[in-house]
Amino acid sequence: MCGIVGYIGARDATEVVVSGLQRLEYRGYDSAGIAILNHDDFQVRRSVGKLSNLQQRLQEQPTHGQQGIGHTRWATHGGVTEANAHPHRSDSGEIVVIQNGIFENYLDQKRRLIEQGVAFHSQTDTEVIAHLIERETKAAGDFLAGFRRAMQQLQGGNAVVAMHRRQPGLILAARLDNAGGVVVGLGDGENFVASDIPAILDYTQQVLFLEDGELAIITADGVQVERLTGEPVAKAPQRISWDPVAAAKGGYKHFMQKEIFEQTRSITDTLHDRVDLENAQVMLDDLTLTDQQLRDIDKIYIVACGTAWHAALVAKFLIESLARVRVEVDYGSEFRYRDPILDRGTLMIAITQSGETVDTLVPMELARKAGVPCISLVNAIGSQAARLSDGGVIYLNAGPEIAVASTKVFTCMLIAAALLALKLGALHGRLDRNAMREHLQALLALPNKLGTLLQETAIYEKLAERYRHTSDMLFLGRGINYPIALEGALKLKEISYIHAEGYPAGEMKHGPIALIDEQMPVVCIAVKDGVYDKMLSNVEQVKTRGGEVIAIATEGDTTLRDAADFVIEVPQTLPLFAPVLTVVPLQLLSYYCALRRGADVDQPRNLAKSVTVE
Ligand code: GLU
Repeated sequence: MCGIVGYIGARDATEVVVSGLQRLEYRGYDSAGIAILNHDDFQVRRSVGKLSNLQQRLQEQPTHGQQGIGHTRWATHGGVTEANAHPHRSDSGEIVVIQNGIFENYLDQKRRLIEQGVAFHSQTDTEVIAHLIERETKAAGDFLAGFRRAMQQLQGGNAVVAMHRRQPGLILAARLDNAGGVVVGLGDGENFVASDIPAILDYTQQVLFLEDGELAIITADGVQVERLTGEPVAKAPQRISWDPVAAAKGGYKHFMQKEIFEQTRSITDTLHDRVDLENAQVMLDDLTLTDQQLRDIDKIYIVACGTAWHAALVAKFLIESLARVRVEVDYGSEFRYRDPILDRGTLMIAITQSGETVDTLVPMELARKAGVPCISLVNAIGSQAARLSDGGVIYLNAGPEIAVASTKVFTCMLIAAALLALKLGALHGRLDRNAMREHLQALLALPNKLGTLLQETAIYEKLAERYRHTSDMLFLGRGINYPIALEGALKLKEISYIHAEGYPAGEMKHGPIALIDEQMPVVCIAVKDGVYDKMLSNVEQVKTRGGEVIAIATEGDTTLRDAADFVIEVPQTLPLFAPVLTVVPLQLLSYYCALRRGADVDQPRNLAKSVTVE
């Protein structure tokens, strides 16, 4: 999700907005644009590509004014074109809008607006918002009231900023449902709004942060915050005095914490420009294998290490279930020494954050030598894994991950694997358009659902306090959540140094059950899916032997509320995509345990981020 900047005051708005967008360039984007209110009309300039292209456009066609908004877009709905770049205008041109995020129910609203005679000029969900605000403004007879009414109809994580041509001196901004940040900067006779602090830090250090469901009414002389329903919200300004390292941590205590909380955005970035909902298809432009080559594949090896190996196990479930192609998952370090069968019809997939993990690179080289094509799911652009991938790459687009223990890259790996599995499913004739659309819709809804898991952290602090002297913990899951049990255990080991084991829950009775006593907390991932009843039996078995159960359950599961000692609820999604949500509580649990035990969260002992030795 990309950059938003707005300004109102005596300075040249073009200059303030463009300089703010420059400070947000690190977020990544594919096009940019601004709208400046100039002599009662909007001057809109947009261009594809880097901000320098927009600056060039502004040199050729300058515009100045005392109020403006700007945006760097990372396309989610509609290709990367000038027509799709923000700001978008309403039908009459009276309103301009910029948006960060995804308007989930945009198709319904778009259909209704078209029936009402509205003409569309882009493929974006954002343009729908512009027309919606105009329709509601006309109905309410007032911009603010219309804006409120329109915002109440948007579903999904969105930040929206708008201006009305006939209401000069006013900028409205709203943050909805787990949107990325919206920060309002307070000046003297001038005010600012942005998606992130660096955009405005050159001008002011006094800021207000909007919460979900809040709206800011911004004029040059003041800022009022209210709920979408209209009740005023009293907010005390905060002063930002950041040193460069703190700035890089974005106000979080640790990089790992920041990266956990960034996941709403990072998984959106993995989805970026790869989902075409209207045509029910997945676009993976960096894959070089042809559709026919992908159709010919009847066997896949996935190689990976550590956390990426857990993502590979989830990928196996996704690909086998959606595409019915056989998958074997290997530790990179084992594959090279086990004389694997590399023959025609085989594909290798490497999953790696850094793209430099030597244990993963060697199997890729073996595959190449045997004439087996290789693709990689990788975060680091241009890395060795990307270069070795003769079948192309799916970049994770997670941005830099600094903490040694991987969190956001893991969830991005799951999203990338799901996209690949869906593409293979369609090519292998296993998914029709309706099934594809249902899965794509579920994927697009995940960022918002993940966001709800980040709102409440008190339970993790409580658990961390309770288990601060615990020496062992068991993690159980079944089916596609079994790899998540492994990942939960690994995370806890890595950063808190508590010994932890992850097990497929069905295996418990074949051994680990001997370990259960009052000293052994057991985390059970027991969401509502095809193996839910089996997981309930495991919970009972642990309770009978005196163990304490922390259950990861589907929202509203009253059975587990009674059966387990602690319950952390996750939103419902398609069972195949549940791992993207069930892993988040486990990341938070390990983070808070490590914090409580005073461990070095970002740089755990003996570990390195990118393991370039065997
Ligand atoms: N969904 C919008 C679009 O595709 C906004 C994307 C963004 O956050 O930049 O244009």
